Amino acid sequence: MRRKLVAGNWKMHGSHTANAELLAGITAARPFGCDVAVCVPFPYLSETAVALAASEVRWGAQDCSAHEQGAYTGEVSAAMLAEFGCRYAIVGHSERRQYHAETDQQVADKAKAALARGITPIVCVGETLAQREAGETESVVKRQLSAVIHTLGHCAGEMVVAYEPVWAIGTGKVATPEQAQAVHAVLRAQLKAATPQADAMKILYGGSMKPDNAATLMSQPDIDGGLIGGASLKAADFVAICRAA
Ligand code: 13P
Repeated sequence: MRRKLVAGNWKMHGSHTANAELLAGITAARPFGCDVAVCVPFPYLSETAVALAASEVRWGAQDCSAHEQGAYTGEVSAAMLAEFGCRYAIVGHSERRQYHAETDQQVADKAKAALARGITPIVCVGETLAQREAGETESVVKRQLSAVIHTLGHCAGEMVVAYEPVWAIGTGKVATPEQAQAVHAVLRAQLKAATPQADAMKILYGGSMKPDNAATLMSQPDIDGGLIGGASLKAADFVAICRAA
């Protein structure tokens, strides 16, 4: 049995006041029967670390540089994230691929940089609506994951994978449990061909996961948790999803 993971992706939301309220709401609802994490904007890592220090709720970042250090204005290294106690770093989110033109190889390099500092990369893959309609879902997610598998080599088993169909993100159009499971099974098979740890690896679903659809999605055999956007910003909703896991 794989222990489920529910991770909030706050994206570019938050303020000192809102974060304090949200984190207090989450910690007040402990304990959870699954692993729980919040991935917050960089400037809020410090206060998040303080707020969660005494709880089992973990925290992480939403990106991570592929570089160790140097003249990379605006980037944040894995070593810096490790200093703030980050356990996770999301890499390759479709918003980064789309708005920052991140390539499969850059995403893979970021995942490698995170792992090198003991941070678990949550590697996002997913097809656009046009790709799904063209019947390319499987080839797209396999290509995205393949770059990471090859770059991580014998460490591939240490990543978390998140399947996030781009058409389901922030749209309220959730993938059906069957649609999501079908892609998760493809990803699991790809991982099995790459690492003996595949059966223990977590593959999360992300894209309009809410309290009312979380339990059904997470009851699918290869869905090991959720990466939650909008619903991670309200403590009651996020907690309800954690309870559904
Ligand atoms: P929503 O839950 O808002 O659809 O966002 C999903 C997501 O992008 C998580 O990374």
